[in-house]
Amino acid sequence: MAKIAVLAGDGIGPEIIGEGIKVVTAAAKRHDITLEFTEALVGGVAYDATGHPLPPETLELVQNSDAIYFGAVGGPKYDAIPDPNLRPERGALLPLRQKLGLYANLRPCVLYPALASACPLRHDLVDGGFDILVVRELTGGLYFGQPKSWVGDNAVDTCLYSKAEVERIAHVAFKAAQGRGGRLVSVDKANVMETSRLWRDTVTKIAPEYPDVELSYQLVDATAMELVRRPKSFDVIVTENLFGDILSDEAAQLTGSLGMLPSASLGQGTFGLYEPSHGSAPDIAGTGKANPLATILSGALLLRYSLGAEEAAREIEKAVEAVLNAGHRTADIAEGPHVTPVSCIEMGNLVLEALG
Ligand code: NAD
Repeated sequence: MAKIAVLAGDGIGPEIIGEGIKVVTAAAKRHDITLEFTEALVGGVAYDATGHPLPPETLELVQNSDAIYFGAVGGPKYDAIPDPNLRPERGALLPLRQKLGLYANLRPCVLYPALASACPLRHDLVDGGFDILVVRELTGGLYFGQPKSWVGDNAVDTCLYSKAEVERIAHVAFKAAQGRGGRLVSVDKANVMETSRLWRDTVTKIAPEYPDVELSYQLVDATAMELVRRPKSFDVIVTENLFGDILSDEAAQLTGSLGMLPSASLGQGTFGLYEPSHGSAPDIAGTGKANPLATILSGALLLRYSLGAEEAAREIEKAVEAVLNAGHRTADIAEGPHVTPVSCIEMGNLVLEALG
């Protein structure tokens, strides 16, 4: 039996996680996988109840679990908390990633053919959709390197990577490419940055361990351009923290809606944190308008990466695609006056039905 810590959080968090649990449970059951879900407080609701967005009981629960299924945290009410370390995102999400060593962020950016017209790019560039996996290093580089300070008229950030940090993320990316189209683009700025030279050198030395993966290199500026010029040419992209932050948002925007984007943050072993890429959407919380598909698809990633249940993961992904192909849309992806949007719960039920 797999133990899943459920941290639904704030805003639309509980609504979308509810639909996710429904679908993940059904998919797991079809493959005789038993899941035990245990809920705990996180974010603003945890702050209200305990005075901290990541209470010790929640940390203890996640440390004794096989995976975390996360909704979203934050909201206007909590932006005013005087101590920034007690605000939901900084006080809960970042420490969770750091304490649990979640160094690999995987973001599948899929444009489903049925949603091609929601993509801001010209139709002939995205006809038939695309499927890009961005693998971003999450705990190193410019965001964490020391010194990091602002003194008088000078400010400094330090970009630091060790060979070991690059090796571990490169292995994640090569393995991901093996399970998909077998093509990996390593993105760096090796023409000007030393950390990028280390990055490229390290990735090159690992490549012979994965002879079935076709590796190529690209400078980050070229990748930014190629993503909007030929998005269908990509399979897996691996890159460092800052470049990954920017490129994954660029790729995400090409898929049409934040409500469609799942993510997985992985560490050593099979433990992972799975969450939609969007926030707590306080503007639509409680209205039933939230799109649960990013959360449902994050549940598929949980089955794939933490439980090794590839078939169950694929069945969820196929069910989502079938529901979209049948024309069902939540409000964020509904186009034109003739489409009547379905609610969050209705969308969850439709995916459940499509699972069969
Ligand atoms: P947001 O992602 O919550 O919302 C941006 C826009 O997208 C809103 O119009 C919202 O209604 C819409 N949207 C988001 N998810 C949707 C969904 N599933 N279905 C339909 N529409 C959806 O970003 P924001 O408004 O900038 O932030 C709101 C709060 O969330 C803030 O407190 C922010 O700090 C927090 N936040 C949390 C996370 C996280 O928990 N990982 C990530 C980003 C932002």
